[in-house]
Parts: sequence; structure tokens; C-alpha cells
Amino acid sequence: MTSTDHTPTSTTGTLAEAQIGMDIGGTKTAGLVLDRDGRIEAEVTVRTPSGIDGVLDTAAQVVATLAERTGRTVQDFASIGVGVPGQVDRAKGYLRYAYNIGIEQIDLAAQIEKRTGIPVSIDNDVTAAAIGAVHLMQLGGTVAYLNLGTGLAAGYVVDGLPIRGETGVAGEIGHLPIDSLGRPCPCGQFGCLETVASGSGLKTYWPAGGDHPGRVLLSAIAAGDADAQFALDHLVEGAASAIRVLGFTLDPGTLVIGGGLRLVGDPVIEGIRSTLRRWEAESPFFAQLHMSERIQVLPEDSPAAAVGAAIASRS
Ligand SMILES: [Zn+2]
Repeated sequence: MTSTDHTPTSTTGTLAEAQIGMDIGGTKTAGLVLDRDGRIEAEVTVRTPSGIDGVLDTAAQVVATLAERTGRTVQDFASIGVGVPGQVDRAKGYLRYAYNIGIEQIDLAAQIEKRTGIPVSIDNDVTAAAIGAVHLMQLGGTVAYLNLGTGLAAGYVVDGLPIRGETGVAGEIGHLPIDSLGRPCPCGQFGCLETVASGSGLKTYWPAGGDHPGRVLLSAIAAGDADAQFALDHLVEGAASAIRVLGFTLDPGTLVIGGGLRLVGDPVIEGIRSTLRRWEAESPFFAQLHMSERIQVLPEDSPAAAVGAAIASRS
């Protein structure tokens, strides 16, 4: 929060008033209203224009639309939570390195607050999705959320509390180098997990797949495209490696796979499971984690990040 938090709280932990949650992504922004019982009351999705003005205008437009659709004024909402890609300083409401929405740095919470007049909190979108997945899928205990999308990152929720780390970098496992002779990563290191197990990794291994390789990967493989198969094999092995990292660092009771690549099809999710089972057969030490059995997949069209951002705006 960048201003004093006036969010009403209740001893039962339910939402005392409706909150707005927003997930600002590279191509679209999803917004919703979460009612006092944590149910989604209204949803809206709009295109995200790139750059500071585009993002701020979009946020204000989403808030106004949700107010109109639920018969409220903007001031009737207790708070707004925003999930965004990039490095988030939640305490200061500051966003950095959000290159896929065209923003290098901005005091995002204060700027949206200025336009709407209600308290705003911001969160990394993957952490927000982890919080939302726990709520929507009714999970408890130690939960890791793995975003298998354009990038690769994780979010953690332990006993209902998100773990963000001191500077908001917790969960950036996509930048664990797994091969020092591997491809350069935009982060400055070489052979990061993200260069293999992500949408951008797919593009590198299989340039013929175009801008959205996940959508055409399986049909290309079915048609005998060896490069597409090579890209899928690397994606699956890299994602399984990410899950092994999460297993040994957090020992999550549930590991939720989210992100657009989870929807590519069975060869991805089942490929990950069978890779984990192969490693479990090789190592009793790894097998004790039962990671192949702890995987759940975020349902399609689940607005987890917007829901999680709304919930996180309460505290
Ligand atoms: Zn990297």
C-alpha cells in the first residue's frame, strides 16, 4: 500500500467489502470484482497498450467498467490489487523491469491510486497467481505455483501466506543456470532454465513455430517436424527440472502448473509427470518427495492472478 490501509478486516478472514483484482499482462489486462465472500462478481478483459500511459489508462478503464457492471461507484471498492510482470517492491508500490508491458520503472501503485482514489497494492503476477490458485483450488499447506508461460517463474504460498523474499525476487527460478555452456539469457547469465523451459525457449529451439509456438507445436510434431519434437523434449525436461528445484527447496504438498504452455496438451503435462517418475525410479532420495503425484494443473480460463491480487490487496 502506498497510503494508509483503510481496508476493512474481519475476524473471520472473509472480505469485508468488495475488492478489485487486476492482472496486467503483455497483451491483455484481466480485471474482476471479488465479493465479501471471495466470489467473483464481475469480470472484464481488455487489450493492454504498451507503455506507462497505456497501462495507467487501461487500469482506470477496467476499474470504471467493473464499477458500472456491479452498480457501484469506484469509491465503493475497498481496495485494488494489481498483478504485474517484473520486479515489484510491494512496500513502496514500485515496479521495475516490466519490459513486456513497456515499462522500465514506475511508482505504479501511487499512479493508479491517483487515478482511482482508492488504495492500491501491487504484486508480482506469478505470486498473485499462486495466491489466487490457492483460493480458487481450495489448497492448503505448502504450495508452489509454477508459471510455464512466456517466461518461467514460481510463486510460493505457505499456510496461506505468500513468500516474496526481501526484495521480491523469491521464485525467480527461471534464472537458475543449468548449463554454463548454454544460450545467453537476457538476465546476463548463460543457460538459465528459462532459456529452455518457456515460450521464449520454444521460440529459440523452434523458430519455425512463429510468435505463438505452443499453439502449433503438437500439430507440427504430428506432421513429423523433428525440430518441434526437439523443442518439446527440452521444454518438458526443463519444466521437470524446475519442479525438482521446487521439490528440494520448498517440499510443496501441492505443485500447481499454470501459464499458457500448460494448455498445449497432454504431451507437456504427462511428459513432465513421466520425466519425474523416471527420475524417481533412479533416485530414492528424490522419490521420497513424490513430486510426480503432487502436481495439479490450474484449470483453463482460471483468473488466478487477478483473484490473488485482489486478495493480497487486503493486507
Ligand atoms: Zn536468466
